[in-house]
Amino acid sequence: MSDHCVVLKFGGSSLATVERIRNVAVRVKVDYLDKGFNVAVVVSAMGKTTDGLVELAQKTSSVFNGREMDQLLVIGEQQSVALLAMAMEEMGIKAKSFNGLQAGFITKGHHTEGRIVDVNPKRVACWMDEGGTAVVTGFQGINEFGDFMTLGRGGSDLSAVALSVALKAEFCHIYTDVDGIFTADPRLVSNAKRLSSVSYDECIEMAALGARVLQARSIEFASLYKMPIYVSSSILDGEGTWVKEANMEENIKHGKVKEGLTIKAIVHDKNIAKIAVLGVPDVPGIAAGLFSKLAERGIGVEMIIQSVMRGDVNDIAFLVKEALLGEAIEVCNDYAREIDAQGVTYDSEIGRVSVVGIGLSVYPDIPAQMFSVLSREGINIDMISSTSNSITCVISSSSIDKAVSSLHRHFMEGEK
Ligand code: ASP
Ligand code: MG
Repeated sequence: MSDHCVVLKFGGSSLATVERIRNVAVRVKVDYLDKGFNVAVVVSAMGKTTDGLVELAQKTSSVFNGREMDQLLVIGEQQSVALLAMAMEEMGIKAKSFNGLQAGFITKGHHTEGRIVDVNPKRVACWMDEGGTAVVTGFQGINEFGDFMTLGRGGSDLSAVALSVALKAEFCHIYTDVDGIFTADPRLVSNAKRLSSVSYDECIEMAALGARVLQARSIEFASLYKMPIYVSSSILDGEGTWVKEANMEENIKHGKVKEGLTIKAIVHDKNIAKIAVLGVPDVPGIAAGLFSKLAERGIGVEMIIQSVMRGDVNDIAFLVKEALLGEAIEVCNDYAREIDAQGVTYDSEIGRVSVVGIGLSVYPDIPAQMFSVLSREGINIDMISSTSNSITCVISSSSIDKAVSSLHRHFMEGEK
């Protein structure tokens, strides 16, 4: 293998048609192979193939069977690796495709939400040693029974990062349909600026709060092994964004060592919904029961807020992904009956907007500024939460665009 090994990843929209698959082959050649790099390419399913497969399953049966769902979902990525390898071969590139089993991805956990526990890419490494380019399925692995498992939606990013670590690649280049990571979604904010680099912590925070550039789990994995990620457009030629460890030199601004807060981005998420379980008995074990039931069904929750006690009952509110709302309501209704709670309410017409900056919690004026900007715009805040690196407000989904632009003007463009 050459000293310079990289793992590249292409998402579904970059592979949506045969023509785009051919373009990907050209990109790999021009950007890396012609420069002497040893390359493994991780790919997602073509276009919206995975959505289509999920729909097909739902039409066929109303009963969810995780194992069979995984058997079905893995074919999306198998199709794209084979086609990309064929397109490369035709261009004279020595290429071979590998699925999750052949590439040695070992997973555990729930079907459709598998976790990577090891990657042993022996066959991939041998092929690359022989000067071949490996084309590897994203989003899939094999569990202890030898069954296929998928890694959660958007899981190909995670596969690419994990393979980069296992192959000891120099970095992982993720090609997407946007040219990097921006100070806000450029579709909402025309003045949004591309960031030349963000730290793992900043990027994890941004992804967790809804920035749809990289899958949050993939950044956590990269951070664990200090694997640098480069994000850029698969269509445009411009610069992208590095996700890597914060660089000390970059942080020593103007030659002075001083404390300073950098607000990195305004992030929003419209694909969430709020559920509240009202009037739950204020006794130990109630929250444990509710969230265990949700976890058993693989329903992730965020921003859990338990209100101050009124009499001997509490309200518990939290957010779920909009796509999981139906299932979450079902679980909550069953549980509410079981514990004799007063009821369950929900709202899907909400979204969240966040200000992200490492360490902003030590600057007490930041929350005040954020809330003032929203109030000036006449936007009502439904829920608030903060971490040491972000402040998030839940607001109505119809106000999100306005909130993002005005917060960007205030925090990123210096408008007072
Ligand atoms: N094809 C899978 C999905 O649509 C994995 C991915 O695209 O990363 O979720
Ligand atoms: Mg919503």
